[in-house]
Amino acid sequence: MKHIRYLLSLTLILGMLSSCKEKKPQAPWEQERPGSKQSSHVADDAPAQDTKKREDIYTVTRVVDGDTFVAEKDGTSVRVRLVGVDTPESVHPDKEVEHYALEASDFLKETLMGEEVYFTFDQNNAATNHIDRYGRLLVYAHRMRDGLLINTHLIKEGYGYAYLKYPFEHMEEYLDHQRVAREAGKGLWKETNASAATKVEYWFNTGSNKYHLKSCRYTKESSLPIPLVDALANGLEPCKVCKP
Ligand SMILES: [Zn+2]
Repeated sequence: MKHIRYLLSLTLILGMLSSCKEKKPQAPWEQERPGSKQSSHVADDAPAQDTKKREDIYTVTRVVDGDTFVAEKDGTSVRVRLVGVDTPESVHPDKEVEHYALEASDFLKETLMGEEVYFTFDQNNAATNHIDRYGRLLVYAHRMRDGLLINTHLIKEGYGYAYLKYPFEHMEEYLDHQRVAREAGKGLWKETNASAATKVEYWFNTGSNKYHLKSCRYTKESSLPIPLVDALANGLEPCKVCKP
């Protein structure tokens, strides 16, 4: 009884308080979302909060595989490919399912299905209007409710690799996340033998599919270091000149 009386008086007080200030009517997109700004649980990958207009927000309707999904806005669907990350192949018609492909795809489903997202873009893809040759929109995808950046989330949790085939602004940062995930034995790195392959370091040039010794004539000041395991994961081949 005491409990109920307490609740009743609390309700009364709250009611009086709220009637004091006039509330302006709000459009739905101006209302605060549960778990957004005021939430104390903000993901590590959350960028500085910026206000997104309603028209920039998509809803994820289908996950195709670990790095590709379909999102919808105002009844229009767009197929989306995450920039700078590659996950093992699960739906390629001519290939067997690669190790960890289904896990990566499931992980993306858990993270994104039905979620609202907004996109940011990489200037390296500006020339093609951020569309790849398969007609997919190339994006950094952020989960609306907590700002989680999906691209790095996949790498940090060990469900994808930093994708080195095409240049992107955060390549070195993504390689760092990958190294941390690998050293922690996360996800697809669980069964990796953390010996030779991760310690031996080679060099590569963005946009090339070869890896080199430090002493190779193709290794330049702009070349990036890469452990062998990452080079192989990205399908890089040994240079024929320096034969690493
Ligand atoms: Zn070489």
